[in-house]
Amino acid sequence: MKTLIRGGTIVTEQGTFPGSVLIGDGKVLRVFEVPDGPVEADEVIDASGKYVLPGAVDIHTHMDLDVGIARVIDDFHTGTVAAACGGTTTIVDHMAFGPKGCSPWHQVKEYHRLADGNAVVDYGFHGVLQHVNEQVLEDMAQIAKEEGITSFKIYMTYDFGLDDLDLMKILQRAAKEDILIASHCENHGIVTYWRERFAREGKTQTKWHPVSRPAEAEAEAVSRLLYLAQAAGEAPVYIVHLSSLKGLEEMRKAKAAGQKHFGAETCPQYLLLDEKLYDDPQEGLKAVMAPPLRKQEDRDALWEALGNDELDTIATDHCPFTFAKQKQQGAEDFMKCPSGAPGVEERLILLYSEGVIKGRITLPQLVKYACANPARVAGLYPRKGVIEAGADADVVILDPEKEWTMTTGRMHGNADYTCYEGMKIKGAVDRVLLRGKTIVKEGEFCGARGDGQYLKRGKSVLV
Ligand code: MN
Repeated sequence: MKTLIRGGTIVTEQGTFPGSVLIGDGKVLRVFEVPDGPVEADEVIDASGKYVLPGAVDIHTHMDLDVGIARVIDDFHTGTVAAACGGTTTIVDHMAFGPKGCSPWHQVKEYHRLADGNAVVDYGFHGVLQHVNEQVLEDMAQIAKEEGITSFKIYMTYDFGLDDLDLMKILQRAAKEDILIASHCENHGIVTYWRERFAREGKTQTKWHPVSRPAEAEAEAVSRLLYLAQAAGEAPVYIVHLSSLKGLEEMRKAKAAGQKHFGAETCPQYLLLDEKLYDDPQEGLKAVMAPPLRKQEDRDALWEALGNDELDTIATDHCPFTFAKQKQQGAEDFMKCPSGAPGVEERLILLYSEGVIKGRITLPQLVKYACANPARVAGLYPRKGVIEAGADADVVILDPEKEWTMTTGRMHGNADYTCYEGMKIKGAVDRVLLRGKTIVKEGEFCGARGDGQYLKRGKSVLV
């Protein structure tokens, strides 16, 4: 069966052009600029007046995450339906920790159990390192080879954060095995100091949450991670959810000093939402996450860095809990609030409406940050993240003119709120194809549970 998408404007990292995409057996067969002449196809999709983008790739989600005090409300089915409706056809999910002392294999098996047969978009996993010894490092290398899990996450804070000696052992081995180490960068001492002090002083309203996790905590950890990576032989590292100007400045310093093999992601919440949200003790709960929301100057700096091609990716850190119940665990004490927020569905259209329409990034940059670079970082390029012959036929058809208001009722995941409630949006995801099959039509999901395939990933490419 052959499908032809015609009449639209194709968007690549290099630019835009009027063109058609011919699809067969789940792959892109040809891309041609108009006029394309007569082409044989069983199905013709008219994309007139619309943009045709590669299926978006979100390499930071937490489906079905168990954080101990709560379990994320989206599983791999509902969470990927939301992803699909937002134009995301590939996710790479960050695993939860397993039981204390378990082998990294434990969670690999657990995550296949959670995702296989449930996901409706293609998916991979980042491994997680919760402690370090020779066997764990052996397992990491073996998991990369056998499972195609070529990236592992480490945390520099929380009680399960790793110390510098642990990190050196991991980074040194990762450099040797071409494994990407993704890091949550916050200084543990700074965060713990403030949390303990605020607990003693009864400063437990959400307005103290951002004060307890200041930008300095992020900047110090970013800087230390980059020096450790260098000391370990330029180990490839990836900074997840960069939130602050100070953190960004540490990256700039490393880049100016000639360091290579590192990259950074930011997320829509750090580009669009303000820490003033925490002043309201109820609304603030919705945005309890780590790192916290920042100030206007941070958002301006991150947008500017995106405009200047200084960052690598925009992911979501999708980690939804219900506001009505789960988030209320923090009603009296923000430290008891499960940390995270929904976002997997909102990402692409927010970046279009707030980024492209408002002139902060270009359309080709949107494709770079939301599609192509995430695929490169995850070791999935050029199978994913690009519309060219031989790539998987993952396509988003975006209606650039449609205007609508973002509300919880229009979202497709299980969360009972969106952080962007009431936001006026220009542009809408009209149709989504996963490996040639339409899974979203006129904005509504029409695929099937289990349509998603597990992705064995290759070596990460940092650009
Ligand atoms: Mn996360």
